[in-house]
Amino acid sequence: MSEIRADVVVVGAATAGSYFAWRMAEKGFNVVVVEEKKLGTLGEHIDIFHFDEIRFKQFGIPPPKGEELVGKYKDGKMWPPDGDNYKVVNYTFCVMRLPLFTSRLNRYAMDAGAKILDKTRYVAPIIKKETLNGIRVKRNSESLDIIAPITVDASGLRSVVRVSLPDKMGVETDPIKPEDTLHVILEYWDEIEEPFPKGLNFYPFHKTFFNPSYGEGAILGVGQPVSFDNSRKVMEEFKKERFQQKHKLVKTCQGWTPFRRPPYSLVANGFMVVGDAAFTTKPFSGEGVSSGFTGCKIASEIAAQALEKGDFSKESLWEYNVGYFTDQGAKFAALMAQLPAAATLTRSDVNYLFDADVVFNGEDFSQINRDFEVKSSLGKTLGILGKLLTGVIEGGLRRESLRKLIAVQRLSSKLRKLYENYPKNPQKIDKWIKKVEPLWRESKKLGG
Ligand SMILES: Cc1cc2nc3c(=O)[nH]c(=O)nc-3n(C[C@H](O)[C@H](O)[C@H](O)COP(=O)(O)OP(=O)(O)OC[C@H]3O[C@@H](n4cnc5c(N)ncnc54)[C@H](O)[C@@H]3O)c2cc1C
Repeated sequence: MSEIRADVVVVGAATAGSYFAWRMAEKGFNVVVVEEKKLGTLGEHIDIFHFDEIRFKQFGIPPPKGEELVGKYKDGKMWPPDGDNYKVVNYTFCVMRLPLFTSRLNRYAMDAGAKILDKTRYVAPIIKKETLNGIRVKRNSESLDIIAPITVDASGLRSVVRVSLPDKMGVETDPIKPEDTLHVILEYWDEIEEPFPKGLNFYPFHKTFFNPSYGEGAILGVGQPVSFDNSRKVMEEFKKERFQQKHKLVKTCQGWTPFRRPPYSLVANGFMVVGDAAFTTKPFSGEGVSSGFTGCKIASEIAAQALEKGDFSKESLWEYNVGYFTDQGAKFAALMAQLPAAATLTRSDVNYLFDADVVFNGEDFSQINRDFEVKSSLGKTLGILGKLLTGVIEGGLRRESLRKLIAVQRLSSKLRKLYENYPKNPQKIDKWIKKVEPLWRESKKLGG
């Protein structure tokens, strides 16, 4: 059995793993990344993806050029279930090629000194005294042990390292369930019969989008929990309702993305988890590339401090939890908690909310994309409440929906406060979970 040593070993060389490895290698650490696929093929299962323009600067990534950038759009349209009363979301999105973006991140990581071993599969953790001490991998059917004081799981939704850890290490080890997984199907269309909506188009009621692809083409995308059959069914119904235009189907892509709260702790002794493996996708869109970078950036700073101190214990890595959950994690928790109740809104409820310009409102959606929250004032809240009550009185909004909207608002702000006060000390986590868990259960109940 061969063995190599590193300061950090990362499992997964897609966007999260490469970004984390790049950050660590730049700080001068010895970083090894293992990736089961061949480099240059990562991201091909999706091809085109969307990235917020403001995030390049935020994460210190040079903006895309050439073929990697398919287009840039200053705004998007958010459509009601029926009719054309769309709202404009003023926010710049880049339409990009994921394989080229991922290859660029791979190159940045390697140029900074990280080693990426592709066609190398994670097999098992190496554990000594309840501490992760590295991993065993298979490379060309040979076993290789990579010994490192910190292992980072960036393996995507399956979280291969986390789910293989023994329970006593203190992280949740349950695999993701089908009902917590968005099954996303993308149809690439060309030669589309006019007229059809140009630019970026979101359909929140249907959980679908119709976005630009290459040239004059477009992508019809659907994400549904449980199964691809579910997504396919919704896609066919949606096409019948909104997109009967003749077109050429260029190709179909599909994949999974997580749609659930992150594990309560993202660290254990010698262990950290980032990206889709940590379930840090945006609750309002299911996108996860830039929101994954938020966790990677914090995790790389904390891992560097731990390596400088020579302390890789859960306590030493805990600051990653605190940094993530008190900011992006708290905002995402507040949004995620609202989703089950939002899914019970009927077609006519959502049409009313669009018409009344509340909840489904262009400015609020721009803010959610940019800041992951909507800034509120007493006047604004009272205005919204007034419109909602009018909706019930006039029959546009069901009384039951109003009750749920108010209940979920209270629940979501309670949850956000709890996450903003995430325990600074790992000893207090059990007490904190006891307060948080009933709120997640209540959120699910509001979806019933
Ligand atoms: C169809 C679709 C469209 C999407 N569109 C967008 C979008 O427009 N914008 C956006 O921001 N997000 C989008 N997302 C979500 C986005 O793709 C993910 O959030 C993001 O790619 C997660 O990156 P990651 O590096 O955490 O995980 P992944 O991209 O899943 O990468 C994990 C890596 O780990 C490797 N790996 C897994 N197991 C092992 C193992 N045992 N050994 C070694 N390596 C292993 C995998 O091969 C993979 O390369 C979309 C998702 C889907 C499915």
